[in-house]
Amino acid sequence: MWDIKNYYKDDGEPIKCIFCDCEQFTTVIKDKMGYIVMEYELHCANCDDIASYWATGYHDPVYMKYAHNHIDKLNSLLIEPNII
Ligand SMILES: [Zn+2]
Repeated sequence: MWDIKNYYKDDGEPIKCIFCDCEQFTTVIKDKMGYIVMEYELHCANCDDIASYWATGYHDPVYMKYAHNHIDKLNSLLIEPNII
């Protein structure tokens, strides 16, 4: 059974990539104010998909919702209709 708790911490920090289960992430800085990082994305180190967007102290929960939606879609593709 797929569980988002295996992929994201409660605060939205990614644990594993939902696409390939990789546990390594690359930080891509999107905005800085002087030396202070204001916004960054975490990309999967293996497949480069975006796992999280962080801004001014918080991970955006939209990415957890996106992970849920994506898994539902994958599961729906795996369900075969009953053939009599
Ligand atoms: Zn990945």
